[in-house]
Amino acid sequence: VQQPLDELIASLTVDVPDHPEPGVLFRDLTPVFGDGPAFARVVEGLAAPAESDPRAAAMAGTDDATPAFDVVVGVEARGFLLAAAVALAAGVGVVPVRKAGKLPRERISADYVLEYGTATLELHADSIRPGQRVLVVDDVLATGGTLAAAVELVERVGGVVTAVSVVVELAALGGRERIAPHAVHALWTT
Ligand code: AMP
Repeated sequence: VQQPLDELIASLTVDVPDHPEPGVLFRDLTPVFGDGPAFARVVEGLAAPAESDPRAAAMAGTDDATPAFDVVVGVEARGFLLAAAVALAAGVGVVPVRKAGKLPRERISADYVLEYGTATLELHADSIRPGQRVLVVDDVLATGGTLAAAVELVERVGGVVTAVSVVVELAALGGRERIAPHAVHALWTT
């Protein structure tokens, strides 16, 4: 019998106290990504809201066999590792949301608040066509500021966010509320 995915992720995640600054319990997922079978199940799970939620599939006009997204957006940097794998498995493209100053062509920007100060995320203006259905992926949902900014960018270019998937949700930080009304699909909530 297969170990439940949340237990598998929890068992491979390494908690690092006081990184990158005092008071933060950093959840290091690199051992999850480094484990072949675990990574495969994580990649499959991140795509699951589209494939296993019959209501979402019906709204998107797809059946269970067809992913209910046309493109996967990954957030720099750890989201890139996940988004590319999910996109390849689903047979769709992958689009990067990057930190300020990295994208070379016409782009849009969204500022968001971090614990200390602010940061900026950017998206190429022509990377998503209006009406395209988008799965947004990242590794950890903490306060939700990062994913809220990524969702905002996708919507500003006309993309339709059909799902937001993360490997780990840190529930105490309230990120899910920040992403509402979009539902967050978390493989492990802690
Ligand atoms: P937030 O915008 O607060 O939801 O932060 C999310 C981003 O910061 C994600 O891209 C995570 O990779 C990273 N992050 C925030 N808190 C943690 C944590 N405790 N452990 C690991 N990564 C974190």
